[in-house]
Amino acid sequence: MLARIFNDLVAWGILAGFGGLAFLLALIFKGNFNTSDPAPSVGDSMLRGLEAFILAIVGGLAARAFISILLGAANDSPAGGLAVGWGFFLVPGIVDTIPYLTHHPPILTSVSSLLMFATVVGGFSGAMNGLWRIYAWDGLGWVACPLDMTWGLAGNTIGCLLHAINFAWGNHGDEDRTNAHRYASGFGMKTDYAFTQGAVMSNLSYGPGQDLYNHEMTHVWQNRAFGPMYTLTYLGWMVVWLVPSLVAAAIVQVIAAPLYWCYFNNPWETWAYVVQNQDRAAFANTPDEKKLVFSTTWVAIASALFFLVAITFAVLTVKSVWIDKGASANPPTTHSTAPGKNKTGGHPPRKPAPAPAKGH
Ligand SMILES: [Zn+2]
Repeated sequence: MLARIFNDLVAWGILAGFGGLAFLLALIFKGNFNTSDPAPSVGDSMLRGLEAFILAIVGGLAARAFISILLGAANDSPAGGLAVGWGFFLVPGIVDTIPYLTHHPPILTSVSSLLMFATVVGGFSGAMNGLWRIYAWDGLGWVACPLDMTWGLAGNTIGCLLHAINFAWGNHGDEDRTNAHRYASGFGMKTDYAFTQGAVMSNLSYGPGQDLYNHEMTHVWQNRAFGPMYTLTYLGWMVVWLVPSLVAAAIVQVIAAPLYWCYFNNPWETWAYVVQNQDRAAFANTPDEKKLVFSTTWVAIASALFFLVAITFAVLTVKSVWIDKGASANPPTTHSTAPGKNKTGGHPPRKPAPAPAKGH
């Protein structure tokens, strides 16, 4: 569990590659990282490069350690891989859900695949965070940095994709030590909406101190504080409300109903709009649209029920994967009460019964 964090030469190569590349970029484009200081000294550029190099190595190792320990604590079981894939990298979990349910070998949630995801996400985001000097080492950087590399990996996985899309044209903000990246342009879901994933804020022309900036920064810290619960319940809320909002759209003839119920009424967004000091109902274009915006109180009431279910789900997953350690043959989030199941109560043997369908 611990040896495998360090004994992978490919992982070291990747981390040294990210760190070395970032170091070179710091020397080559030295004036481009801060236009208020267009001609930094060589020493200053080397310090920037060194910070990027160190954070690439430390970030990659921290992510590998975190994921390795989580997997090991679940006996490296397929259920543990699936839960970690969903909770900390999202895409591998989505991809491997069908193979898991049909008792096929994992594609992206094997131990080696997940450790490679950890290496790439931890190493790449570490290099970028150092290169742009995002962490405030005289304060919250010491909280932000370790959380980004471990608990907040899911958001930062998508954040890495944002970097990959934005780095050449996203117009990264000059401000440093803010504990987040800000691309003034770059990718956005809608042209006039900023988009934040992990520590990366995109399509955000407003700088520190401004209301919309505070909104996006709220998402950065929501991800750090709540980790997988933030990412998965943000998406979960959208999934839960999608069908009702489509029905509502058909009945009340308001085509934008999904936008209001899935996005504006999302508790994480409601929170961020409160921080932004922005009335969500002000975005409604018609009286009918306005009716679809829940008051903050109603969002809180709906959220109480929603999070009760989400937390129950999370507790059952943790119990199944890390406490019972995959003793049930069922997927981690379902309880062993399926009809026809002959084992009830207690702890069935660790080895699940062979899958009935062998021929596929
Ligand atoms: Zn938002």
